[in-house]
Amino acid sequence: MTSITFHGGVNDIGGNKFLVEDKGTTILMDFGMSFREEGQFFSQFMNARASNSLVDLFALDILPNIPGMYRTDYTEHMELEDDEETSIDAVLLTHAHVDHCKYISYLRPEIPIYCSEASKLIMQNYDDTGTDQYLTHKEKFEVYTNRNGELSKKQGDDVKIARNIQVFEDGKKFSIDSIDVEPMPVDHSIPGVDAFILHTSSGSIANTGDLRFHGRRAQDTENFVQRCGQSELDLILCEGTRVQKADPTTEYDVEDKSTKIINETEQLVICGYPIRDLDRLMSFYLAAKNTNRYLVIDLKQAYLLKLFSASSSFSNLYPKPDDKNIKIFIPRGTWSLIDKDLSKFSERLLKMDYKEWQREFLDYPNAIDYRDVTAHQKELIFYCSDFNLQNLIDIKPNPNSSYIRSLTEPFDVEMELKEEQIKNWFERFGVISRERDWHQIHVSGHGDSTQLMHVIDVANAKKLIPIHTTHDEYHLRMHPNVHTVNKHGTYQM
Ligand SMILES: [Zn+2]
Repeated sequence: MTSITFHGGVNDIGGNKFLVEDKGTTILMDFGMSFREEGQFFSQFMNARASNSLVDLFALDILPNIPGMYRTDYTEHMELEDDEETSIDAVLLTHAHVDHCKYISYLRPEIPIYCSEASKLIMQNYDDTGTDQYLTHKEKFEVYTNRNGELSKKQGDDVKIARNIQVFEDGKKFSIDSIDVEPMPVDHSIPGVDAFILHTSSGSIANTGDLRFHGRRAQDTENFVQRCGQSELDLILCEGTRVQKADPTTEYDVEDKSTKIINETEQLVICGYPIRDLDRLMSFYLAAKNTNRYLVIDLKQAYLLKLFSASSSFSNLYPKPDDKNIKIFIPRGTWSLIDKDLSKFSERLLKMDYKEWQREFLDYPNAIDYRDVTAHQKELIFYCSDFNLQNLIDIKPNPNSSYIRSLTEPFDVEMELKEEQIKNWFERFGVISRERDWHQIHVSGHGDSTQLMHVIDVANAKKLIPIHTTHDEYHLRMHPNVHTVNKHGTYQM
């Protein structure tokens, strides 16, 4: 008998954590964070306490308390008495968005994580440019005896253990004990997204992951649903993020509309888009080509393009960081030495202003800083994230500049407040007027009702469980045999 327990990702958008058990084989599909659940209790200034994180997250029902699953440096330190051998045979990761992957950092490093090559590169980007621990687990709460014979705390980074990452090939079947897995690439707003078809002892199950048909890889999604149609599915776990919406716009519209705005802009074009959405980066890259401008990217994107261009599977798909249509923006470092007199400081100190992973870009021939942006406003499309708006102070956009916002619109009060703050920045620097006219040009990573109807029709599964949605009622109208589950609920095949 096969069962699926939904520890997240139902009656919610994200936080997917589906535990599949089949004849003694146990796998997790995704292990993500729910923004809604974390937002109920935590904020920027109050999080789970690092020294007590698992206990905190169990107490708030944010993480399921399953023995043998979590890293033992944490369970020992938090006195959870969890020395059982792990029962989890694998994690199948659909993609490297935090609502699907965030809590992998809490898992035991020996649990194999099966993912696409692109997901691995994106997780490496998170690890190398931030504090995440997706690919490398860093032991915490270790003590040692120092030279004076006293106990000292080891720094967290002393013991690094590589996680067991298993990269699968798109479309190529593999087995985890009794379960055969078919990973099928689908179109979404980050590279390397896969849906899964599982062949278990009690039948076949598809998990759509997050998908759409209106991006640059619509054919991938079509191939997945066709494959579902051929697989005599007993069950489909079908996402429904935008099941209540009807919206025919596509990623190509983003490129076209942006091209038009850029053509109409005399001075600097500033843009904001999701930092790891390389298909969106492509839209702005192509819009830059169309308008004879350079796209100015930030260091994290430069690093991501470097990782992708080093892989034979992606080197022709996305531009290299030193592409002739790209400039790399070097921001002020920790001491802002970039514009200081280096005879008083030194080249060496300038390098030390930047983190290890950032340094090599200082020597790239296409590296620029705020002075170049100020001087060449008509030639550039400047990427500026919501977290680096201070760049506007240095750049001083000329009158007749514009801002294209290619990010999701606010859907809660907190986001509305944040957006108000962003507007204040662009108004302050004369990019938008008091009427606040920035250009909102965005398409979602998720299909609308028409697209989901097509998935459900062609997949032709006997039963459907809605996931990644707060609008189950729409699925009920689209499929004759819908089963809904609550959090921690189990469905028996
Ligand atoms: Zn998601």
